[in-house]
Amino acid sequence: MLFRPTLACALQRRLLPSSMKKKQLNRQQLFRIQKIQNEHAARAGRRQTRSEEAIGHTELGPEQAGIVIAHFGQQLDIEAREGDNKGRIFRCHQRTNLEPLVAGDRVIWQAGDPVGVVVANLPRRTLLTRPSSFGDLRPVAANIDTLIIVIAPLPQAYPNLIDRYLVAAEQIPVQPVIVLNKADLLTHDSRDELHKLLGLYQKIAYPVLQVSSKTLVGMPDLKALLNDRTSIVVGQSGVGKSALINALLPGVNTLEGELSEGHEKGRHTTSSARLFHFPDGGDLIDSPGIREFGLWHLEPADVYAGFIEFRPYLGHCKFRDCRHELEPGCRLLQAVADGDIDPGRMASYRQILQSIQSDTSPAFPEND
Ligand code: GDP
Ligand code: ZN
Repeated sequence: MLFRPTLACALQRRLLPSSMKKKQLNRQQLFRIQKIQNEHAARAGRRQTRSEEAIGHTELGPEQAGIVIAHFGQQLDIEAREGDNKGRIFRCHQRTNLEPLVAGDRVIWQAGDPVGVVVANLPRRTLLTRPSSFGDLRPVAANIDTLIIVIAPLPQAYPNLIDRYLVAAEQIPVQPVIVLNKADLLTHDSRDELHKLLGLYQKIAYPVLQVSSKTLVGMPDLKALLNDRTSIVVGQSGVGKSALINALLPGVNTLEGELSEGHEKGRHTTSSARLFHFPDGGDLIDSPGIREFGLWHLEPADVYAGFIEFRPYLGHCKFRDCRHELEPGCRLLQAVADGDIDPGRMASYRQILQSIQSDTSPAFPEND
């Protein structure tokens, strides 16, 4: 195998200063956000009444640790993490004072008949969000460690799309892994081109891997990277994400999800994220909804930080407000001229910056 990631590399987590600065919003946007918030508040009020009614009639067991496997509207599937029922899944409501919970959340819950109740959520290591069609950010999965970015010979791989995922990964922050799937389809030409691309990312210090979900070549290496951590799979439509997930989790139809007792209502829908355990360690959260994310909520500084090989040059340009375009004394342009920064990555940086500055709508294709 040409590309073998070092585990040390995969384990290395690059923490970013989290910048949650708000963008300048115009009046129309503020109005829209206020309207959305009012609607949310009204809906939350109605939910509270319904949930408290349901919880109020139930005799509850002792408090215990659990993990959110999936959520269905106002209900959650909670897997018991301790006790006799460890590993079993229970349908629960959540106390309405809790923030919205998602797959991967660690919680404290109490069993009940027919539904239990989640009484507390534990702090999150990481949180994946995605822009809703209303323009706000929704949580979709919690406590993710690894983002598997899948590319393939077909459909064609776009370096700018990879860079967008990398910027998103650095922001969260989660460890990205770039996986070239469909290795069985590599031709003489596409092999050279894609190996060059993978070589570029490997040089930057990203783990890269070549696999085929059809022939299963490289799958043990991929699986080894996912042990003892929680991962998600992202990438363009058609690169083989579903095929890869099914190869990683044989026997599990990731889009349907299993149902345990008392689960006749609220079947798993494709829009909800669901957590799966690998039989020999590690978890994978799957949902078409988290296979793409937007970058529109990022600041220019986040985009810069998302290009990790640019970081050593931060603050070394002649002008403090250097835009790294044509300015004299630009340290970044110098690094490109010296061959220390790839010109394609520089172009990609500019393209992403432009897309977040010119448009407040999602700048990322949401094609799943
Ligand atoms: P997704 O849209 O990313 O989830 O892609 P799918 O998993 O639906 O796969 C898209 C197509 O690529 C399907 O026809 C798969 O059979 C095919 N495919 C997926 N992985 C491989 C692979 O490793 N080799 C080959 N030859 N085809 C693959
Ligand atoms: Zn500069």
